[in-house]
Amino acid sequence: MSHPHAIVVGAGIGGLTAARALRRSGWTVRILDRGDALAPTGAGMAVAPNALRALEVIDAAEPVRRLAAMQGAAGIRDPRGRWLNRSDVATAERAFGGPIVVTLRHQLVRILSEGIPAADLRTHTPVSGVEPGGPDAPAAVTTGAGERFEADLVVVADGVRSRLRTALFPEHPGARHSGVTTWRAVLPAPPTPAEPAETWGDGRVVGLMPLADGRTYFYAAERAPEGRRHPDERAYLLSRFGHWHAPIGDLLAAAAPEDFLHHDVPEMLDPLPALHRGRAVVLGDAAHAMTPHVGQGGCQAIEDAVTLALLLDGATPADVPARLPHYTAARAARTAALVRRSHNAARLAHATGPVAVLRPALLRLTGLLPTSVLARQFAPVFSWRPPAPGVPAVPGGAARPAREV
Ligand SMILES: Cc1cc2nc3c(=O)[nH]c(=O)nc-3n(C[C@H](O)[C@H](O)[C@H](O)COP(=O)(O)OP(=O)(O)OC[C@H]3O[C@@H](n4cnc5c(N)ncnc54)[C@H](O)[C@@H]3O)c2cc1C
Repeated sequence: MSHPHAIVVGAGIGGLTAARALRRSGWTVRILDRGDALAPTGAGMAVAPNALRALEVIDAAEPVRRLAAMQGAAGIRDPRGRWLNRSDVATAERAFGGPIVVTLRHQLVRILSEGIPAADLRTHTPVSGVEPGGPDAPAAVTTGAGERFEADLVVVADGVRSRLRTALFPEHPGARHSGVTTWRAVLPAPPTPAEPAETWGDGRVVGLMPLADGRTYFYAAERAPEGRRHPDERAYLLSRFGHWHAPIGDLLAAAAPEDFLHHDVPEMLDPLPALHRGRAVVLGDAAHAMTPHVGQGGCQAIEDAVTLALLLDGATPADVPARLPHYTAARAARTAALVRRSHNAARLAHATGPVAVLRPALLRLTGLLPTSVLARQFAPVFSWRPPAPGVPAVPGGAARPAREV
């Protein structure tokens, strides 16, 4: 029996997880990325218990758990520093079924890339086209340099601005601006240690998350039209957040303007008609871009990738087209519901109209509720488990998602 062969386009969180998981199931995998995939870029990222469970399948959960730094209180504060909602991390861990590990994106990328031979990862190779193939024809991709590679499976993991999603589903409107813009930075430890928290006020959000190396992952978000930029992003952030509770002002004052990554946030409120076509699958942000307000974009990319490899376990090249509908069945409803839930969380976080008046009351109310009640709200998100390897007895099988997440 010949080894099935996959091409993965994009060596981000989803693409690397897919490559690791498919290799583990006996596939030969080649990864193509337009950039310098493993460079230490990007900022922080929270890895939730559902994603850690997926990472267990590829033996990558333990190294990620070792990066955990969060201790003490965590929750939501108002700009004056009053806790609107607070829980200690240990209680939350017990209630949520495991830790939420805040790490640096490039540390996660490094862990995911372990075991992938350097020869199988081609950087600086933009992919410009995809042919989905079918039962009797291989899938193929074309690079910007005009090379063409055929495969039994093409995994499209080229991120939120996915060119290949548009090629596979030309009638879909793609990802559109959510109305939210974000800043991210990894900053030195402030004089007053930061407790892990988000601060919400006036339709704006700041997050401070201590990292294992003592530094702080800072993020901020507000509503803004697409493309609005500031000559000095740090000066702008100081004007917006410098007067909020300590140590936000100190952290910003000690940072350099170039420390901040500023991105507008696209989302895909219209789901794709399917997450596969022929012998091609779409995963991660390319498939279901969501706002970061539930912290699940990368976690869902990891779930997608591990689910795909498990559903393809034991498949021959000829089996691939018949297996991929199981991937859509397992992933489409869950990820579409999370796009919607993230959108609603963003609306609450950035509300400035009449809803804004209700926001502190809502948060105080949830703050008064025991962590177990909050855990119930998040249970459908965090309690996900990987499907059994192979074709499920029922379409969607063990991975069938809850309708509401
Ligand atoms: C402010 C903010 C905070 C976030 N926080 C969290 C969080 O706490 N937890 C969480 O789970 N998620 C979070 N996310 C979301 C998370 O970052 C993304 O969902 C995740 O990175 C998606 O992974 P991916 O593999 O789909 O895409 P990416 O990681 O973006 O990777 C795409 C890859 O494809 C490559 N590529 C693109 N086009 C081509 C091409 N034509 N040819 C070849 N290669 C190509 C790119 O170079 C890149 O390496 C956050 C997002 C934002 C904006």
